[in-house]
Amino acid sequence: VADGLQSLGEFGIIGLFRKDAGPGRRWVVQGIGDDCAVLDAGGKERLLVTTDMLAERVHFLRDGITPFQLGYKSLSVNISDIAAMGGEPTAAFLAWGLTGDLDEAFVTGFRDGLLKCAREFHVDLLGGDTVSCKSDIVVCLTVLGRAEEGEVITRSGARPGDVVMLGGVVGDSGAGLSLILHDTENVSAADRKRLLAAHLEPRPQVELGRLLSTRHLATAMIDVSDGVLQDLSHIAGESGLGADLDADALPLSDAARRLAKSAGVDARDWGLTGGEDYMLLFCVPPDKEAETVSACRVELGLDAVPVGTMTKEKKMRVRRGGTWSEVPIQGYDHFKKTE
Ligand code: ADP
Ligand code: MG
Repeated sequence: VADGLQSLGEFGIIGLFRKDAGPGRRWVVQGIGDDCAVLDAGGKERLLVTTDMLAERVHFLRDGITPFQLGYKSLSVNISDIAAMGGEPTAAFLAWGLTGDLDEAFVTGFRDGLLKCAREFHVDLLGGDTVSCKSDIVVCLTVLGRAEEGEVITRSGARPGDVVMLGGVVGDSGAGLSLILHDTENVSAADRKRLLAAHLEPRPQVELGRLLSTRHLATAMIDVSDGVLQDLSHIAGESGLGADLDADALPLSDAARRLAKSAGVDARDWGLTGGEDYMLLFCVPPDKEAETVSACRVELGLDAVPVGTMTKEKKMRVRRGGTWSEVPIQGYDHFKKTE
């Protein structure tokens, strides 16, 4: 069937590169396939590198996000990939394509948002590239980070029996997007503010990633950018395992539940397949679950919630309303046809 890139899909395309890119030279600790690449920076130092692009009309609508928020989000989603390796972000590079109809206020607004995020997470903007584009804005950030050898948490380290945990609520971002796409009057100002902020100005969980990495609590980790189902299946796939996910246990906010109820949808779907929550999803050996929960509570005021288990059998199963079913890998694939 001649369907362009749809049947190959985003991960099929990445696979074509990964297959032939080779294992890398001796300083490459981790190449294609994780939230960041990991390079040996000498001694115990590890250099983390990640890059993510936001494209107008694919990732954002010009009248659905302010320039300030776009600047903030462009950096924060990249910092989230550093957090997902247990790293500390250090530096950022901004490469972008701007269309001729934009004005200076767009640029200064974007700059202010980006630099606010940079200050919050102690990241320096050290370079980039600025070009003109014919029709759509594209924004590409590259972020560097650091960690010590032994602190880096990959997607591939999970073991059978590990408890799958989330470090915060999921679904708020999907709920926020739904508010942007089909504006509902039926929402309180406080709920609207919370859900829109989750979608437009997501806060990466850097402190949580550092806690899990420096205390050696997690065996594998990813940030939830594509939805819990797909991101957990990445951990399972890279670890050579399967996973049981309890959708009934997903931590959801009251704001998302209220919006779902009034919209007649299931809030769990925003967490399972909505994506862009940028919460950390991680695996913990059963004998470290209690320590993890208490460290998160005491040191960060966070509730780490168990939502599943890693299994030997290479299958993803999900429990909803008490019944288990096997699920195909889901989430957002950039080249899949949208209904
Ligand atoms: P994330 O959601 O954490 O940003 P992705 O799912 O986008 O991760 O990417 C998965 C892996 O594929 C990452 O290691 C990323 O660096 C790599 N990757 C994506 N696109 C390409 C490409 N065109 N060439 C090489 N590697 C790529
Ligand atoms: Mg990621």
